[in-house]
Amino acid sequence: MNVMINADLHCHSVISDGTLTPEELAQRAKVKGVNLWALTDHDDIGGQARAAAAAAAVGLDYLTGVEVSVSFLHQTVHIVGLGFDASNVALCLGLTQTRSGRAQRARDMAEDLARVGIKDTFEGAKKYAGNPDLISRTHFARFLVATGVCKDTQEVFRKFLTEGKPGYVQHRWATLKEAVTWITQAGGMAVVAHPARYKFSANEEFALFTEFKGLGGAGVEVVTGSHSTAEAAAYADIALEFALAASRGSDFHSPQESRVDLGDLPALPENLTPVWALLQDRIQRAVPVRQP
Ligand code: AMP
Ligand code: MN
Ligand code: MN
Ligand code: MN
Repeated sequence: MNVMINADLHCHSVISDGTLTPEELAQRAKVKGVNLWALTDHDDIGGQARAAAAAAAVGLDYLTGVEVSVSFLHQTVHIVGLGFDASNVALCLGLTQTRSGRAQRARDMAEDLARVGIKDTFEGAKKYAGNPDLISRTHFARFLVATGVCKDTQEVFRKFLTEGKPGYVQHRWATLKEAVTWITQAGGMAVVAHPARYKFSANEEFALFTEFKGLGGAGVEVVTGSHSTAEAAAYADIALEFALAASRGSDFHSPQESRVDLGDLPALPENLTPVWALLQDRIQRAVPVRQP
């Protein structure tokens, strides 16, 4: 019965690199017709209690969420966790460890940008970060737009902050095994985020999904704000090939920056198992289901 559900299980608040608070996101999701929501901040679950409370207040069903940064075959891969126990100690410690290198990385990024004449970007980016533990490339991008270096964040990521460009710094994130284990041992489901965004060869991508599945990974984002129709179809095939459930999420960050708004996504293909079908007992219901 997934046709009735407008699930949006991927977005960001000021706890990571979004511009809205968890409360503003819950409100916006409700207005946009979402009825099952998850806040999935990068490497931080500090917004989960606020998001769950705000979801209940506006009448939205809620799943806990996070987007963990992982290093796999020299690329950064994002693993979304859904429906975990947010008080799980190993998960909390793992995320603290994952966040820990961000401040030094940001200083190194600023130093690299200074080499091409763009000064004071560490202090600049920090002003845009709602969470001092979580300075991301997005905050640098906002500062470079605000100071007129680039016209929008897309231009920033074309010219800076990506591999081979000024401001890019190699970073070691969590391993795939760590991320999947933290999420699943906390009772949640691990999902490969926006798979079309990675620049893997066919063999490398096969290795990613094989290892992910072997570790207990259970889902893949098929419909996301960063997939074209053709990409969604390709990852629907991958979901079937690897017997993974399918997820759906806008990856909304900001009304000013995001192309796809909360809930504004095509439905999942009917032949796939939606992740929420497997997470029924993890959903925090806005209106409690009556016991028979
Ligand atoms: P970080 O975790 O600091 O490496 O920052 C990653 C974030 O930067 C992503 O989650 C996106 O929000 C943003 N980002 C990365 N690449 C792009 C891009 N090409 N265009 C827009 N935003 C991007
Ligand atoms: Mn982001
Ligand atoms: Mn991501
Ligand atoms: Mn994201």
